[in-house]
Amino acid sequence: MGGVILPGKTIGIFGGGQLGRMAAIAAKRMGYRIVVLDPTPNCPAGQVADEEITAPYTDGEAAKVLAQRCDVVTAEFENIPAETLEAIESIVPVRPSSRVLRIAQNRITEKTFLAEHGFPVPNFRPVRSREDLVRAVSEIGCPAVLKTATGGYDGKGQVRIEHPDEAERAWERLGKVDCVLEEFVPLEREVSVIVARNLRGEEAVYPVAENTHSHHILDTSVMPARIPPELARQAQELARAIAEALGVVGLLCVEMFITQDGRLLVNELAPRPHNSGHQTFDASVTSQFEQLIRAICNLPLGSTELYRPAAIANLLGDLWEEGEPNWEEALKLPAVKLHLYGKAEPRPGRKMGHLTATAETPEEALRKVLEARRRLKAREAS
Ligand code: AMP
Repeated sequence: MGGVILPGKTIGIFGGGQLGRMAAIAAKRMGYRIVVLDPTPNCPAGQVADEEITAPYTDGEAAKVLAQRCDVVTAEFENIPAETLEAIESIVPVRPSSRVLRIAQNRITEKTFLAEHGFPVPNFRPVRSREDLVRAVSEIGCPAVLKTATGGYDGKGQVRIEHPDEAERAWERLGKVDCVLEEFVPLEREVSVIVARNLRGEEAVYPVAENTHSHHILDTSVMPARIPPELARQAQELARAIAEALGVVGLLCVEMFITQDGRLLVNELAPRPHNSGHQTFDASVTSQFEQLIRAICNLPLGSTELYRPAAIANLLGDLWEEGEPNWEEALKLPAVKLHLYGKAEPRPGRKMGHLTATAETPEEALRKVLEARRRLKAREAS
């Protein structure tokens, strides 16, 4: 268990989306072999992997094949059934473990874990029945947010409740599944911190990222966040302490709210690379993707130093509505980098790629990346 998995060995990735793709690119660069398991053939990560296994995440036999072909396995998507991972843990190291995934993939277990360990979270109550719902609304008050316990991401599976009368309808809209009701927090800003831990317990913490969302989907992220240094230090320490308490081997992204009265509250945990860390691909000594590979292979972790402030802007399928985006116009800005994920079908709301810009200041990086994204809509080359 305690050994190092050296370059030349094979890494398995559950999930073949863009996170797996960028992790695979980093791993290939270091000389590892990659096998990806995903339900869709020619998925983004499969395109750069050595081998692709096409099977549903619930297919225990396919998971076993992946385990037998690999020296270590990771998941790029936290909704891989924890049972699938647990079942192969006797064959191959799974990092982060199925236990970590199980906690993070359910908002009730995640928030309960955080609260029990003394980490600050918005006031919340589990909702498993109509009685729970009525009690939760009277205890939490309004406005509040009702979120499904599982399966929700990018704002799917959540409804804001302005008045207690709306609670029942909101729960019906979510299919009366297990939920959490949480207080609606007046936000000053949203930030996130990515932490890496290897098997020896060595830790590396990235600078704080500052995130904006559009329709609940991450829109832009800037690193370092424009927040006071002391608050940044607290956010980093909070993320580090959570990763340690969970015993993560791999990456953990901790999404946090900064409240209008200056407090940090943990919103969500993602035990995998994160959209708010894509800046690190172009702007850091060690990208989050390389760091994941180092952590799960029990190699020494790399420096998280940022060469320059950086910003990313996501490219959603909506951008393709009037035809192919004008890549050439955007790339006329020389500090801008284009990342496309190899997805054939640009559906609205689907993450197709991102742009990164680096600059002297975070403001300038953000300004540049937004300018580049605006240029994608230019009809003619100038
Ligand atoms: P989530 O899926 O929990 O990450 O929520 C998606 C987004 O909804 C967050 O990034 C926030 O912008 C917003 N949001 C979620 N929960 C709350 C809350 N309790 N108070 C205020 N805004 C929230």
